[in-house]
Amino acid sequence: MINKIFKNRFFLFLLQVLTLIIFVFIIYGAIGVTTSDKGFAKILRNTNFANLIVWSYWWPLIIVSAIIFGRFWCSICPVELITSFFSKIGFRKKPNKLLKSGWIITFFYGLILILGIHTLTIHRIPEYMAFYMIFLFLVAFIVGLIWEKRTFCTYVCPIGHLLGLYSLLSFKKLRVKDKYVCKNCKTKDCISKSNHYNFIGRSCTSELYPASISNNKNCILCGQCHKSCTKDNIVIKKRIFAEDLFTDLKLSWAEISFFLIVSGFVIYEILSEWEVSKGVVMVVPNFINNYFNIENSFKGTVKAILLFIIIPTLFYLFIAFAKKIFAKESIKHSFNQLVIILLPITASMHLLKALLKTSSRIPYWEFVFSDPKGIKTAQLISKNPMFLDKNILELISPFIDFTAILLSVGGIILSFLIIRKKKSINNISKIISVFAVIIYSGIFLITVIAWRFF
Ligand code: SF4
Ligand code: SF4
Ligand code: SF4
Repeated sequence: MINKIFKNRFFLFLLQVLTLIIFVFIIYGAIGVTTSDKGFAKILRNTNFANLIVWSYWWPLIIVSAIIFGRFWCSICPVELITSFFSKIGFRKKPNKLLKSGWIITFFYGLILILGIHTLTIHRIPEYMAFYMIFLFLVAFIVGLIWEKRTFCTYVCPIGHLLGLYSLLSFKKLRVKDKYVCKNCKTKDCISKSNHYNFIGRSCTSELYPASISNNKNCILCGQCHKSCTKDNIVIKKRIFAEDLFTDLKLSWAEISFFLIVSGFVIYEILSEWEVSKGVVMVVPNFINNYFNIENSFKGTVKAILLFIIIPTLFYLFIAFAKKIFAKESIKHSFNQLVIILLPITASMHLLKALLKTSSRIPYWEFVFSDPKGIKTAQLISKNPMFLDKNILELISPFIDFTAILLSVGGIILSFLIIRKKKSINNISKIISVFAVIIYSGIFLITVIAWRFF
């Protein structure tokens, strides 16, 4: 079924057009809806239909789909459509070393997280969300116009590394059916230069050769090689969950740094769900903000830099140095292995956050169709919080409790399995890795148990 869809000449393209139209409506639905009242913004973000869809459903679903199915979102992403179209008519410059390093993706993601979300609160003010989306389309357009092929997706997209890393877990993979067929293939349509700018059936513009793909990280499942391969030799098939994490996978420093930011972010997101753990996680940021008299939105900037960059870096450095001293491992190798080992826990907690977010927004669905802008509903809820019927949340609470434990334990078990099977680290390094898993997962597990069960 999936392969039929990927081979169909127009299906994915039509879905991309559809998502583009939906995004235009989303931007339209959010423009003009704004507030300077921080308390009101916390309600408005859920009552504005466009904002609710983007931050509480679309974004969590991307995370869930990447972890389970791989980069399927990319198959229908409208930004890819824009950037690929303009690269066809643009200057087609070759990307430079900086772009190819992957640091632009890490920097772009960090900027959106720290400046966009935790300083300007683009996730709470619908109009800011719309500006952010327009900005993203604009960058994709400019990058497409200047650089060749799909430079935006390969080297700029702020969620590129996130989707790439999480897709290492997924149950699906794109591979060639028979490598022997590729070996004897004279035309190599899947990488041929003459096919790079075909409208449908392009050769791979993500710098991949399908016959030598060894993990899920960089293939954006655009389906173009399915159509360009004249030997019908490409297939998307099932595989063992997290298969890539058991291989000797090499990550760049840009990807490693990206993961550090994500792990800090996920810890903050899970701990801030419960007032008690939120108080704990905010001790250091609050102290720094008070000590330096930092005011207004910049408090969020300081918090984000501390929690998403400085503290995770210190934790990873501490473990990496322990490995260097006691297990004689290089720092790069230690960081690389730590990311792979802690990825399942981080992804499972990201899944939990996605579940918490989407489920907690259910009560707002009662109003979004009659008042899509959401201003009147937000005013009513602001005057009388009881206006929002939260009974459904009580009903689904046992399911959330059960899933929270399942995800926490599942992530830990997978991390331990990876350590056990790793051949590229020695026994001392394995012991230190177990120690890292216990500390890292303990933060989540203690919070989840204390919050949901006591
Ligand atoms: S890499 Fe980014 S822009 Fe490209 S298809 Fe995936 S999500 Fe869209
Ligand atoms: S994937 Fe298809 S086009 Fe590419 S080398 Fe193999 S057989 Fe040839
Ligand atoms: S190998 Fe390249 S062309 Fe094929 S699906 Fe992946 S990114 Fe697209």
